[in-house]
Parts: sequence; C-alpha cells; structure tokens
Amino acid sequence: MKRILLLGGVTEALAIARTLGPEHIYSLAGVGRVPSDLACQVRVGGYGGAEGLAQFIRDEGVDLLLDATHPYAAQISQNAATAAQLTGIPCWALRRPAWQPQAGDDWRDVNGWAELIEALKPFRRPLFTLGREPLQHLHEIPPEQFWTLRALDVYPGNGRCEVIGARGPFLIDDERALFERRQIDVLISKNSGSTATEPKLEVARERGVPVLVLRRPILPGVDREFLTLEETFAALATTAL
Ligand code: NAP
Repeated sequence: MKRILLLGGVTEALAIARTLGPEHIYSLAGVGRVPSDLACQVRVGGYGGAEGLAQFIRDEGVDLLLDATHPYAAQISQNAATAAQLTGIPCWALRRPAWQPQAGDDWRDVNGWAELIEALKPFRRPLFTLGREPLQHLHEIPPEQFWTLRALDVYPGNGRCEVIGARGPFLIDDERALFERRQIDVLISKNSGSTATEPKLEVARERGVPVLVLRRPILPGVDREFLTLEETFAALATTAL
C-alpha cells in the first residue's frame, strides 16, 4: 500500500484530500481554513525547509508526494521537488493552467513589486487582489491614489487604503458592484487560473479596466504533472493506493 503526502493550498487539493483514506496525509501551511471532516490525516504547519520535509517523508514512510499548492507558492513546490529527490520518492504536481487574455482584455505583465508600482503610476483607484503582500507597502501610496486591497481577512488600512476581507468564490454581480462602488480604474492580480476568482477579469474586460498581472514564478520539474483534477484522479486510480 502506498502512503501519499498531499501538499494542499488550493480548492482542488481539498477535493483530492476528500478521497484519501486514513493512511494518507493532507498537509497545510496553516494560513487558510483547516477542514475537520476528512478521513485522511491532516497536518498543519511547515517542515523547516526541504531537509525537514525529507525527514518527515522518511519518518512517516511516505511513498508519493503530491504537490497541489498554489501556482505562486514557489518555495514549497521547490522544497517538495528537492525532498522527493533526497528521499528517492516520486513527486507529482497538480498545476492549474494560467488564464489567457481574451479579446477586449488589456493585460500588462509585471515582474515583482518595483515594476508593479511603476506600472500603477497612471492610475488612481487600484484594486489589489494579491493577498496580504501589499500591506507592507501602505506607506508608499502616492497622494493621488486610493487603494482597495482584498485579502482573505480584514486588516487595518490607512487614510489612502481600505482592506476588504473576503474569500472566493466571487460572483460576477458582486464583482461588478465592487468595481462600480469604488470606481476601480486598474486591477492587480496574480494569474492563478482559478475559476473561483475569474469573474473580476470579466468585469475588468466589460469596463475596459487594465489588469496588471504578476508573472507566475517558475516551478521545479516533477515526475508527473497534471493540469486538471480529473487527470490527477485518473493517475491516482492507476497507482496501488
Ligand atoms: P510558499 O512561499 O511556497 O511557502 C512558504 C512556506 O510555507 C514553505 O516553505 C513551508 O514551510 C510552508 N508551506 C507552504 N505550503 C505548505 C503546505 N501545504 N504544507 C506545509 N507547509 C507548507 O507559500 P505561500 O505563497 O506563503 O503560501 C502558503 C500556502 O498558502 C501554500 O500552501 C499555498 O498553496 C497557499 N496559497 C498561496 C497563495 C499565494 O498566492 N501564494 C494563494 C492561495 C493559497 P517550511 O519551509 O517550513 O516547510
């Protein structure tokens, strides 16, 4: 019987975890909700880098590492690939395809914070959907801008920034109302490829609002890579679990 260590962080990972029996382990960083209704074991928190993860794999007799973390969680994906090499077990990964721009989209790729701030200069009312990272930059907001930040939880803003706490999936009508109410003139987004957060892109398209897209990080090579949940389930079904 094989023992799987499933590294979670996206909705699809939870869907996989729901199918795993009690010998398997679902691993979460601890930043989001921790489900309490799973048959498999749930482990919360980091391992102390690739070496720590490798040690856990040895201690727990894990046979297969399945990386179903967020496409921007580059550190844990690198740790997973390294730990699998160190322990000689296979590393599989579920990697959602990126969104592709459609007719009417005005997407502008940015590499990191410095480029983002530069690209933001012509705008006045940006909507950030990058999680908590922009909170470190509230002191940099130029006087002519008012920022709206959406993160999983509410945090204090300041006179030129309001933070909204909200978790997807987001509905198109709610996104329309948000853009309208706050007169958003530019959207800042990762390219997560998630259907749960896609409606904001549709609203940006409808309103002719440009989107500054934070470029995806480069992820390590793995033994098998899946683009969809279906492909992942099919591969798991052919593995002696
Ligand atoms: P990261 O930079 O790649 O990872 C930071 C550290 O968090 C890792 O080195 C590891 O600590 C720990 N970690 C991450 N995922 C873990 C997991 N599934 N199980 C146990 N430890 C984990 O990741 P991040 O961008 O901070 O994201 C943290 C988590 O949130 C990830 O699981 C990711 O899938 C999820 N998430 C991220 C985003 C995003 O935009 N980045 C969006 C939605 C969800 P040690 O080195 O100590 O092992």
